[in-house]
Amino acid sequence: MNTLLPTSTAGSLPKPSWLAEPETLWSPWKIEGNELSDAKKDALRITLQEQHHAGIDIVSDGEQTRQHFVTTFIENLDGVDFDKRRIVKIRDRYEASVPTVVGPVSRPRSVFVEDAKFLRSQTDQPIKWALPGAMTMVDTLYDAHYQSREKLAWEFAKILNEEALALEAVGVDIIQFDEPAFNVFFEEVNDWGIACLERAIEGLKCETAVHICYGYGIKANTEWKKTLGNQWRQYEEIFPMLQKSSIDIVSLECHCSHVPIELIELIRGKKVMVGAIDVANNDIETPEEVAATLREALKYVDADKLYPCTNCGMTPLSREVARGKLNALRAGAEIIRKELTSL
Ligand SMILES: [Zn+2]
Repeated sequence: MNTLLPTSTAGSLPKPSWLAEPETLWSPWKIEGNELSDAKKDALRITLQEQHHAGIDIVSDGEQTRQHFVTTFIENLDGVDFDKRRIVKIRDRYEASVPTVVGPVSRPRSVFVEDAKFLRSQTDQPIKWALPGAMTMVDTLYDAHYQSREKLAWEFAKILNEEALALEAVGVDIIQFDEPAFNVFFEEVNDWGIACLERAIEGLKCETAVHICYGYGIKANTEWKKTLGNQWRQYEEIFPMLQKSSIDIVSLECHCSHVPIELIELIRGKKVMVGAIDVANNDIETPEEVAATLREALKYVDADKLYPCTNCGMTPLSREVARGKLNALRAGAEIIRKELTSL
């Protein structure tokens, strides 16, 4: 990236209301069959145009072609039965009905490669593609086959690597793995989580990122956050290992959270996608608020490694609020760029 402080989003962006129920997770599609694939493409064009318009530097598909950041990927794999459902506790936090792993998992076909090819054909800007991380996938399933979170995660890591290599081949510049589960299962992260992440990025020449957050602004997450106290020090448990890993970029939550910002120091040397936009409320940040977060982060990240970003995905927000937040992100980054270049 030649741009100083290149902006991007953590992942999902709101879908148009003709495609899916707005402001809802796991929202069912409103269109079916061939019309659905055309509609998803149109939504992708719109989300891209909105990012272009807002002046976002590293653009994405806004996850317009997926119902959910984990489930849609898993739906395309063999070995998981979506009709056999069990209630499990996701991230030790909220109960959900999830599919069951019934046999060896494999990837019979590519999942997002056609979508990524389409996105590549629509823009010359750098593109980032998000995939779920292996630990977060394991945590969103009931496993009746491997009966070992570590073994299942390792199999997923191999599958993710196949998909990532195929995404790289069609021109994706940054591949990101979403691992909110890293913020909960510290021991597992250090025992096998990072090893699985390394397996997933094996052989990639494009840039790689891991996104670790406190989740979407949904009720289960906001309730959980209330129990975390005044200082959210979860990153402290995992950053030292991540700093030693070969991942290029760490995407983290910052603005309006209780994460002590100095914890960023623990990943010194990595590029950092700093969350300067809160996704858990509808207030649109002012450019100066965004700039203040970035200015603070600059104490712990070198300017050439600071990537202004959102705290998490914005799919549960209205399109209008999301657009406002994208504009604020760009404008806030612009303030700091000017400060840095006028020194
Ligand atoms: Zn997130």
